[in-house]
Amino acid sequence: MTPRGVDPEPGLGAGRAAALRSDLLAWYRANRRDLPWRRTRDPYAIWLSEAMLQQTRVETVIPYWERFLARFPSVEALAEADLEAVYGMWAGLGYYSRARNLHAAARAIVERHGGALPSEPSLLRELPGVGRYTAGAIASIAFGRPEPVLDGNVERVLARILPVREDVKAKAGAARLWAAAAALAGGPSPGDVNQALMELGALVCTPRAPRCLACPVRAHCAAQAEGDAELLPVRPARSAPRPVRAVAALVLRGGRALFVKRPAGGLLGGLWELPGGELARGEKPDDAVRRHLRERTGLELDALAPAGEVEHVFTHRHLRLRLFRADAAPGRVRLDGIEAHRWLAPARAGELAHGTLLAKALRRALGETGPA
Ligand code: SF4
Repeated sequence: MTPRGVDPEPGLGAGRAAALRSDLLAWYRANRRDLPWRRTRDPYAIWLSEAMLQQTRVETVIPYWERFLARFPSVEALAEADLEAVYGMWAGLGYYSRARNLHAAARAIVERHGGALPSEPSLLRELPGVGRYTAGAIASIAFGRPEPVLDGNVERVLARILPVREDVKAKAGAARLWAAAAALAGGPSPGDVNQALMELGALVCTPRAPRCLACPVRAHCAAQAEGDAELLPVRPARSAPRPVRAVAALVLRGGRALFVKRPAGGLLGGLWELPGGELARGEKPDDAVRRHLRERTGLELDALAPAGEVEHVFTHRHLRLRLFRADAAPGRVRLDGIEAHRWLAPARAGELAHGTLLAKALRRALGETGPA
C-alpha cells in the first residue's frame, strides 16, 4: 500500500496509459450518451457545443444548441449576424461573454481562415474565448489530433486515478494532470479518449459518492485503492462572493418602461437592464436611485416608491438589488456611461437581450409572484 502523500510514480507511464486508454475507450463506446453534437463531425457545431457546455448542464444545452445551429448554421452565418441577434438566441443560458466571444471568433475565422476553423491548437487559441481546454477539445474531437483536454470532470478523474493529492490549481499539480491527459490523448482515437474521460467524470466518477464499484477503470485507480477518492481533487478554498448592494428602477412614461443597454465588455456587457447602479457607502437607496437616474440618463423621478428586492449570485459577486417604481419627470434622456436606451412596454422586455437578473427584477418590480 502506498503511504499517503507519497506517489510511487508521479505520472502515467506509457504502459499504464495504454491500459487505461483501452479500458476507457471500451467503456465509452458501449455506454456513451447519445448527444446531438456527438453525431456530427462539423468543427463549428462541436465548437458551439463546447462553448455552451462551459458552466451549463447538458440537458439545458441541447435545445439551445439545436436552435442556435438552425438560426446560424455556419461560421459565416454567425459572423454576419448582429450581436443582438446572437444574444437573442443565447437568452437564458447565462454567461453572455461566451456568446460575445463566439460572435467575435466567428468574424476572426472568416477574416483569418476563410470561414473554416483551424485544426492547429495554437491558431485556435488565438480566437476570442478559446483557451487551452476548448482548443484541445476542438482539435481532438473534430480533427482527431492527439491534444489533451482538462476540464473539471477530467481534472477530478485523473487526480483520483494518478493520484494527485496536491492543489490541482497550483502549477505542479496542474502540470501533472496535463501531462497525464497528454499521455492518454497521445494514442489512438484522442477525441473519444477525451470524451470518455469527461463522460466518466459526469456519470461515474462524480464529485460526491463516486460509483467506484461500477467504474471501468477501477483497477487503475490509486485513490480508490487508498479509499480517499472523495477527498480529491484538492482545490484552493474559494473566497466568498463579494457582497454588492445596488438599486434599480422601473421608470415609467406613458405606460412604457425605460430599459438601458450596458456598454460592451465586462460583466453583462451589451445586455439590457433596468437603470440604476451601486449604492455608495452610507447612501440611502432612494437617494442612490435618484442619483443614478440623473447621472446616467438625465431624468428626474416622480412618485418614487419601493418595489421590493432581489438577490443574484454571480461568480464573484453576491448582489442585493433594491427595486423602485417611479414616473419619469418631463425631459429628454441624455445618456452617460450607457450605450443605448429604449422605452418599451414591460411585457415586451423579452425582445431585448438580457440576463436572468432583468427577468427577476422586472417580475418583482411589477409585483408578480413567483421565484425571485
Ligand atoms: Fe473515480 Fe472510483 Fe473510478 Fe477511481 S475507481 S476513477 S475514484 S469512480
